Amino acid sequence: MSENKKLEKIVGVKGMNDMLPADAPLWELFENTAQSVFKSYGFQQIRTPIVEQTALFARGLGAVTDVVEKEMYSFEDSMNGDKLTLRPENTAGVVRAVIEHNLTYEGPKRLWYTGPMFRHERPQRGRYRQFQQMGAEALGFTGPDIDAELIMMCQRLWDDLGLQDVRLELNSIGDAEERNKHRADLIIYLDQHKEIMDAEALRRMYANPLRILDTKNPAMQAMVNAAPKLLDYLGAESLAHFEGVQAILRHNSIPFTINNRLVRGLDYYNRTVFEWVTDELGAQGTICAGGRYDTLVTMFGGKPTPSCGFAMGIERILELMKSAGEAHQPSQCDVYLVHQGADAQMQSFVLAERLRDAGLDVVLHCASITGIGSFKSQMKRADASGASFAIIVGEDEVAQGVAIVKALRGDAEQNNQATVPFDTVVDYLVDQIAGNDHHDHENCNHTHH
Ligand code: ATP
Ligand code: MG
Repeated sequence: MSENKKLEKIVGVKGMNDMLPADAPLWELFENTAQSVFKSYGFQQIRTPIVEQTALFARGLGAVTDVVEKEMYSFEDSMNGDKLTLRPENTAGVVRAVIEHNLTYEGPKRLWYTGPMFRHERPQRGRYRQFQQMGAEALGFTGPDIDAELIMMCQRLWDDLGLQDVRLELNSIGDAEERNKHRADLIIYLDQHKEIMDAEALRRMYANPLRILDTKNPAMQAMVNAAPKLLDYLGAESLAHFEGVQAILRHNSIPFTINNRLVRGLDYYNRTVFEWVTDELGAQGTICAGGRYDTLVTMFGGKPTPSCGFAMGIERILELMKSAGEAHQPSQCDVYLVHQGADAQMQSFVLAERLRDAGLDVVLHCASITGIGSFKSQMKRADASGASFAIIVGEDEVAQGVAIVKALRGDAEQNNQATVPFDTVVDYLVDQIAGNDHHDHENCNHTHH
């Protein structure tokens, strides 16, 4: 018999990762925790498409930004010539949807979203080409109160997730007019220090000089430190707003440091900007970034709608959660059903459904490429599933109208197996599992580290 020629494997796209079942519990824990924190502040979910018109991002994020210049996955729809882009972030999409559906008609709106974002970057730890963000947008709010609320919502999330080494950096980048004045002076200053500037800085000098202050080039640090500071250009209103945010944070004991060099990578921000950073993730230490964007809605043709929001990089947060010991391997099911023989299989199907009716998670053993397998090999599967109980139904059990219930976990080794009349198996197991839960609570040990 000639051996089948194996076809070449097709692999995933570089920089785009699979979320594997082993990590699913951590994702779930993060998403559930974040959702309930958002909900506790009255934020509502919005889902927008992954694909938007390229013009949305080009106009919204600013033409001379990393994202728009070199990171967007843009393509032409060959069916109709539309110019489209895989979203690199979701504020632009949310704002588009808010305008399109007039969502702020009845007043300000608190929204949250989650989903994949796409940026053509050099893949490395904490930096991927498809990555997952969760974020919040508060639209139609003018004061420093909402800025502080968003920041406090993040703090609550870190607390709920058990993340400790995250710190808040805060800055105000003023309003357009203030930034323009600063910008003019900054360009004059930079012009006097051209010999120290790298190619990227020179290229950005006129289009986006503020971004140069954010450079990671060590040779430019001293020059950048001595550059005109945007904070010195803020007018009374911007300063009062910035003070207002700080006062609320201090009153609520939220620690922060003011980082005058903090600017955001996208053009739409003004006044308050903030980042949550950690030292535990190497170079990619920012787990959440946000700020105010008072003019973005009008830039997209909507009515004036001052707003503030943030986005979190979930992959980076999960890495932090792992190092904080949140990784655990929960079981696949409560009960694994082992059976042998055609009648036993039929009975097992019925029993599995009845157990599910009672709220239990059940894996019913099914045939694989090697067949249904012996009792022994089925029991191996049962063990590997992490189930608390195996139910065993063989030909003898069918004949006697019973099933064997075997405890797979716990300390009661001497008495870990019972023969139970078929009709009472569900009640028996529900009792057993309720008893185990009770036992767990007594020991106050529900964390599976
Ligand atoms: P960075 O300075 O790390 O490039 P950014 O300023 O481009 O970040 P934002 O656009 O503000 O990032 O996105 C918010 C958050 O999303 C970041 O703080 C980060 O946690 C996460 N993030 C951004 N780009 C990526 C990426 N390519 N891979 C994984 N996470 C990312
Ligand atoms: Mg970036």
